[in-house]
Amino acid sequence: MKITEISVTPVPSYYPKELGKNAFSDNIGLQRLEWIVRARTDGGVEGVTSANRAMGRGRVEDLITLLKTTLLGREVDSLLQVQNGVVTGPGADVARTFRSTRWMDALAFDLYGKAHNVSAISLLGGKVRDTVPAYDTTLYFQDFLVPEKGAKQVAEEAAEAKAAGYRALKIKTGRGGRWMMPEAGMRRDVDVVLGVREAVGEDFHIYVDANFGYDDRLDLLEDFIRETIPANIYWLEEMITHDVAGYRAMREMQAKHGSKALLVCGETDRDPISETFRHLIEDGLIDGYQPDIVGAGYLRWIEIEGALRGTEVRSIPHNFGNGTFGTFATLAFGAASRTFVSLEDERNLPHIFGPFPPFRDGAYQVEECPGLGVSIDEDLFQAKYALHEWQVE
Ligand SMILES: [Mg+2]
Repeated sequence: MKITEISVTPVPSYYPKELGKNAFSDNIGLQRLEWIVRARTDGGVEGVTSANRAMGRGRVEDLITLLKTTLLGREVDSLLQVQNGVVTGPGADVARTFRSTRWMDALAFDLYGKAHNVSAISLLGGKVRDTVPAYDTTLYFQDFLVPEKGAKQVAEEAAEAKAAGYRALKIKTGRGGRWMMPEAGMRRDVDVVLGVREAVGEDFHIYVDANFGYDDRLDLLEDFIRETIPANIYWLEEMITHDVAGYRAMREMQAKHGSKALLVCGETDRDPISETFRHLIEDGLIDGYQPDIVGAGYLRWIEIEGALRGTEVRSIPHNFGNGTFGTFATLAFGAASRTFVSLEDERNLPHIFGPFPPFRDGAYQVEECPGLGVSIDEDLFQAKYALHEWQVE
């Protein structure tokens, strides 16, 4: 089976509400574009991926050229090396290209799986759980959007997440890094975290992500850690930039104040596992590692999990910005990864990819379908998006 047709289509995915600032960037807003790549074969099957990681400032023309030279005319079976039904690496002819365009390998898993009627989950090693936990990742600086309510606004949105079935959520912090005076920002972060805990009750995981907002202010970070002890934070993400001395200092603060939170980071590692992160892992200074699921790609994640075996570090792939496609991509990975913790759920409204699998008690049901289990609603696609579908045959 050969790839005979490729297309690129921008499809906006919408959040159910406006998302505010984080520590470094202004309001995320209501929507984000998904650059959908479709590759069809002469055997009538189709694979998809998201080219968002290539299209940050990219041009459609360049993307089409890249897809044409990499994939057009290629045998589906030549995309991946598979032994005993499990992927062991890229196909020899595409190995070099896949190293620099790692977002493309999700398409290879999808297409190979559909061509052979096996799931991406089994290509990734097989199912290790029946449900994949997910967390609501939409709690940005929502207090800035409704200043008169302040921290209460975030608490209300946390209560809504619980009512929607979530059992875990992530709160953006680091307000003092840019948008507020450092001391006042730390205070607001604390108020938000304590308010959210009160709103969701016990038996609910709270993750905290500062996007490096406490850089150069370890004194305020220590205040934050001490004052949020009653909220029992499950993980602390990117409180400061990855750095061995800084993470050692955080471990000491945790020991001093009795914080049991996991320390996690790695979404900014563009060539994982790079040197600083290797040191953090070897020295036991982080508990979770977060290269992006689509940006790092499945093939790199297979290598990462191999390298993490024997350590205590768990797989927590970053997913924000991958849209609805990212939910499907992370679901397949989470179903097959032994140390996976939780899917970063943007709560995108479903569009051409149709409904997500059933979601109950904070987790998605694992459905083993060919490939990634993504199919396109062709009527909707033709009606709304096909006029901006750029094709090459
Ligand atoms: Mg993050």
